[in-house]
Amino acid sequence: MSTPSPVETLSRHELADLQLTKLRQAVDRALSTSHYQAKLAGCGIACGEDLKTLADLRKLPFTVKDDLRQAFPDGLKAVPQSEVVRMHASSGTTGIPTVIYYTRADIDRWTELGARSAAATGCTSADVFQNMMSYGLFTGGLGLHYAAERLGMMVIPAGGGNTQRQLKLMKDFGTTVVHATPSYLLHVYDQLAEFGVDRKDLKLQRAFVGAEPHTEDIRCRLEALWGIQVFNSYGLSEMNGPGVAFECVHRAGMHLWEDAYLMEIIDPDTGEVLPEGAEGELVLTILDRQATPLLRYRTRDLTSIIAEPCACGRTHRRIRRIKGRSDDMLIINGVNVFPSQIEEVVMKTAGVGSNYQILVKKDGALDSLIVRLELDAPHFSDDMRDLEALRSRIAGNLMTSISLKPKVELHEPGFLPVSEGKAVRVIDERPTLPEGPEGSCP
Ligand code: ADP
Ligand code: ZN
Repeated sequence: MSTPSPVETLSRHELADLQLTKLRQAVDRALSTSHYQAKLAGCGIACGEDLKTLADLRKLPFTVKDDLRQAFPDGLKAVPQSEVVRMHASSGTTGIPTVIYYTRADIDRWTELGARSAAATGCTSADVFQNMMSYGLFTGGLGLHYAAERLGMMVIPAGGGNTQRQLKLMKDFGTTVVHATPSYLLHVYDQLAEFGVDRKDLKLQRAFVGAEPHTEDIRCRLEALWGIQVFNSYGLSEMNGPGVAFECVHRAGMHLWEDAYLMEIIDPDTGEVLPEGAEGELVLTILDRQATPLLRYRTRDLTSIIAEPCACGRTHRRIRRIKGRSDDMLIINGVNVFPSQIEEVVMKTAGVGSNYQILVKKDGALDSLIVRLELDAPHFSDDMRDLEALRSRIAGNLMTSISLKPKVELHEPGFLPVSEGKAVRVIDERPTLPEGPEGSCP
């Protein structure tokens, strides 16, 4: 059983004092960026000291994904280039990604939060951690990699995909913990027999799952199939990445590390801050990051706060499992995709019409993305080889833009329904399972 670190058991009063001190510093750092200088002008806050209490946070405007896009690439950078040691990027609503910079201290802080998260699940230096999240610009891979090392676990940096190799690594090195998307972990289970691996030959005890919404039933299914404990892990690149909120051994909502992030829940339509416990959109302020400060960032993730104390003794409040999004972002096998990114590629392609459809469905445990396009009349009669070349060119361009290879279908003009009024471009056929309460696995 893990012992919480002292900062995780501060009284609410001590925590609030710490947060106010850090918030003032965060505001000062933000005000050193050209973006926030313009954005905070006129809100009555000219420096951190102007915030008298934590409630003064509400005087600050929200930050949205589009702000990151407008600030691209350096409008939100608060330190000299020589102090930046890393960047990560995530999908923007169009071709411009959202970029986050990190100083050495920022990486160190992120690592600490991830290590605390892993420790809260009961992991120790005796564990072998296989990271099945993709490494790269996406924060899923590197984020928990360093955290797991910090805790002293042996890390297997497997990255995403290649299930046969994943299973071989698990078997050969006695993996006890994996980090994956829930859909991939179900898929790996489905493939055990295919690759001739017996569950009994694996030492797996725990899984950290995140990067995509999933229900309590999915957790229960994973726990029952694998015979392991499954912990929900929440993060987003704008707030560093994984390690923002994590379940402890009690697996009943995710402790959000309140010494590092301030949380608010707002009504996504009005922006009004909602009372504790109400469901709405999570808004986060990152308190320590030097390189890219972000104040009141609208995550677009829908959840609510659990304020009741947790049996583990940690005083940091928990959030319920993410219910969905307040925007149109799709999460396909853990990868974020905005329909507007697909539209941008489609519209730029000569030979295809302006009507298109995006279909998302389940193919076994995994998600599959199908993009249906109509050809212009002159192209429809083209040679099959030309059509095939066009199809694979579009698929390649989409891959470059969204980091996922969709199946592209080309159809004759008039094949897709013509919408009356607002076009229904996205059809998401993935089943939504009935939701049980948090921590309800048998
Ligand atoms: P990550 O690398 O952590 O997936 P991204 O910035 O690419 O970071 O994506 C973050 C988004 O992924 C979140 O805003 C949320 O919509 C989704 N997400 C991350 N973790 C979870 C989770 N445990 N449950 C539901 N959705 C999640
Ligand atoms: Zn707890």
